[in-house]
Amino acid sequence: MDQYSQLRRFGLFDANVPRYTSYPPASKFNDAVTPDIHRQWLGAIRPGAQVSIYLHIPFCRRLCWFCACRTQGTRSLSPVSAYVDTLIQEIATIRAALPDGVQAARIHWGGGTPTLLPPDDIVRLSDAVLTAFPTTSASEISVEIDPNEIDAPRLDALARMGMTRASIGVQDFDPEIQTIIGREQSYDVTLAAVEGIRARGIHSLNTDLLYGLPKQTRARIASSIQMLLSLNPDRIALYGYAHVPWMAKRQALIPTDDLPGPETRLRLFETAQETLAWDGYRQIGIDHFARSSDSLTQAAEQGRLRRNFQGYTDDICDVLIGLGASAISKFPQGFVQNQAATAKYQKAVRADALPTGRGHVFGGDDVLRARMIEMLMCDFHISVDGLVAERLGSAKRIRGILRRAADAFPGQVHYSADGLHVPDRAHPLARLIARQLDAYEIEPSGHSSAI
Ligand code: SF4
Repeated sequence: MDQYSQLRRFGLFDANVPRYTSYPPASKFNDAVTPDIHRQWLGAIRPGAQVSIYLHIPFCRRLCWFCACRTQGTRSLSPVSAYVDTLIQEIATIRAALPDGVQAARIHWGGGTPTLLPPDDIVRLSDAVLTAFPTTSASEISVEIDPNEIDAPRLDALARMGMTRASIGVQDFDPEIQTIIGREQSYDVTLAAVEGIRARGIHSLNTDLLYGLPKQTRARIASSIQMLLSLNPDRIALYGYAHVPWMAKRQALIPTDDLPGPETRLRLFETAQETLAWDGYRQIGIDHFARSSDSLTQAAEQGRLRRNFQGYTDDICDVLIGLGASAISKFPQGFVQNQAATAKYQKAVRADALPTGRGHVFGGDDVLRARMIEMLMCDFHISVDGLVAERLGSAKRIRGILRRAADAFPGQVHYSADGLHVPDRAHPLARLIARQLDAYEIEPSGHSSAI
């Protein structure tokens, strides 16, 4: 049986599963996390600790049809400035709940479109964040930049606040595909943004591409990658397009007839993977690629790679504080998601309350299973000794869970007393293997294709 037949046999081309950027996935969050619990978790952070900060800007000038991000279209900047006022108030509320001396090792501005903010709003928001969470010389500040929504004054403001990495969404450079997915962004516009970023001394560039888009072929994705490589990004995230119009209504504008089937999706991924490997990029986890000089590659080689809501990271902080509507925080005790609706979020913050929406309190063997899934998605190897050293469970218990997961994939996943190992040819099964390690009921309709 060839490898595609093997992968089909294990359900790769039929299954919908979580992306496992968290465990449990956000679809399992519930209302057990109250503002009081949220406040207790903030207060339990060690004085002087380093944390990661995520700022969510849920606005875009126009909504691209393919995008399932939680964001809203706006033509006017007045709701955006009002939202920045609220974010600054939330930062003050969070700061007051924290012990002294907490610093920011990482700050990420995501959305939505952070670069929709006028320069004055960028400056006052960054001043508020950096005052509440001082950085060190080793801290990283990354910003998602929309090449259609950036200009010299905004780039100057981002450079002044100390941005160290820019993240640019490309998706695909093919004009026909861009029209079908409702996201027009020429190569020249993208190049101008990259040149503007580098001219300001910001040399770390992350880019996002999608495979599985309508009308995408192997030749087209290879051509898009060649164009992308001419920009010389340090990192490339190659995500599978998730067509979930029952969850992201605007995706109904994308004709399903033009979507590649699951086996073609895997071939598109493999074409992209080969093209990037020829150019010297190393694969990181299931869907990232990085230059050998990049810190993500070094983290992968040294076994320090981690997985978070942004994908892969070398961030080792055990606390992530999410700020803004729908933003998710992670604590050693569990997850908290802010109110998702901007109006509800603003109402809570303006009342000087924490905008706690829902979350998850870790219990049972959540932390053990979360770490197993993270090891799988980062290293394709789950080490029994590593888990025992982290005091996450007994070797007997860990081996029992791993053996049962491996038994579901005979001939593909190797189990031994050392742990579970996934060879290269079976890497496409990673999310399905993670599903075996997941103790929760998962509704397939709430998730995207396993490939
Ligand atoms: S792709 Fe970016 S600009 Fe388009 S809707 Fe999504 S977040 Fe907004």
